[in-house]
Amino acid sequence: MELKITCIPGDGIGPEIVAEAKKVLDKAGEVYGFTPVYTDILMGGTSIDACGVPLTDEAIETARSAQAVLMGSIGGDTTKSPWYKLPPNLRPEAGLLKIRKALNLFANLRPAYLYKELADACPLRKEISDKGFDIMIMRELTGGLYFGERKTVEENGVRKAIDTLVYNENEIRRIAIKGFEIARKRKKKVTSVDKANVLDSSRLWRAVVEEVAKDYPDVTLEHMLVDNCAMQLVKDPAQFDVILTENMFGDILSDEASMVTGSIGMLSSASLNDTKFGLYEPSHGSAPDIAGLGIANPIATILSAAMMLRYSFDLDQAAGAIEAAVQQVLKDGYRTVDIYSEGCQKVGCVQMGDLIAERIQ
Ligand code: NAD
Repeated sequence: MELKITCIPGDGIGPEIVAEAKKVLDKAGEVYGFTPVYTDILMGGTSIDACGVPLTDEAIETARSAQAVLMGSIGGDTTKSPWYKLPPNLRPEAGLLKIRKALNLFANLRPAYLYKELADACPLRKEISDKGFDIMIMRELTGGLYFGERKTVEENGVRKAIDTLVYNENEIRRIAIKGFEIARKRKKKVTSVDKANVLDSSRLWRAVVEEVAKDYPDVTLEHMLVDNCAMQLVKDPAQFDVILTENMFGDILSDEASMVTGSIGMLSSASLNDTKFGLYEPSHGSAPDIAGLGIANPIATILSAAMMLRYSFDLDQAAGAIEAAVQQVLKDGYRTVDIYSEGCQKVGCVQMGDLIAERIQ
């Protein structure tokens, strides 16, 4: 079976970490009987340098014709790079917004998983981190407060700013369906997070999620207010499986959840549309400060590739094998510099990719 994958190596450490993810995917393909076929496109700073824009229409069409997109990261040093002297719509990040919009990627998935081997990096108290956690935050990405009408006016000499938070039931239903489907591949629990004690949009959110839940009797649904969820994430993160929430709440909660893992180089992410198509990328940026030094941690990108196998190709076993190989490498004591602790063996980006690929069974 061939897997048609568009790759966006991008800027900074992007090309280094994508190369390692491809290596690991190729090895998983040998073991599990599939062949990834990659087509690279330019996006971000590299595209600005080559084509004058952060993403060309041809590149979008190439991405659209694939089954999934695997991305490194884009952007440069925002204080020094000439890319940031350009108008906002021509800067590297505009490419990312454009591709998300063009491919209708409305569901953002960010796992927060605590590896036992990296528990020292977790800022929570030991009795909490000892229980471990494995959370999937599903955030609505194209609606809500960030996309509603906004304006700033002056009334009687007083400035006033207005943002509007709008969701229709279809936008809520499609992300809720994604949330329940993903929970079915995990521990079968959805915590839907809202502010239904105050906001109408949250009351509609809760009602529609309840309706969708009827089609998933095997998945447990609970509702939680966003302020309580923010507290529970640091008090008892082990209680969560899938957290399903709207755009702004998800923006804040996903950052909180990822920070309690303590290791930015380990965090993968996915953005999905209503087919099996998805864009998979690490949660971190292009780390221009370490680009070209060969020391970047490729694990977040490798875990993003595992998510791609699971959610775009339903290759759950191969995805699990990559995740197990990452766990084994950590258990064997190998660390890139960002997750290094005393007594471990320090390795570079390429070596980390090799070690993970070797352990895929
Ligand atoms: P960053 O995540 O790139 O780096 C923050 C710190 O973490 C740096 O010290 C970096 O060296 C380190 N780091 C990040 N990833 C690492 C890895 N895999 N291995 C080892 N160390 C790692 O954030 P930043 O410095 O704020 O942003 C740099 C650029 O990345 C900016 O242009 C920003 O806009 C862009 N960015 C892009 C994306 C994306 O492509 N989706 C996301 C976030 C930031």
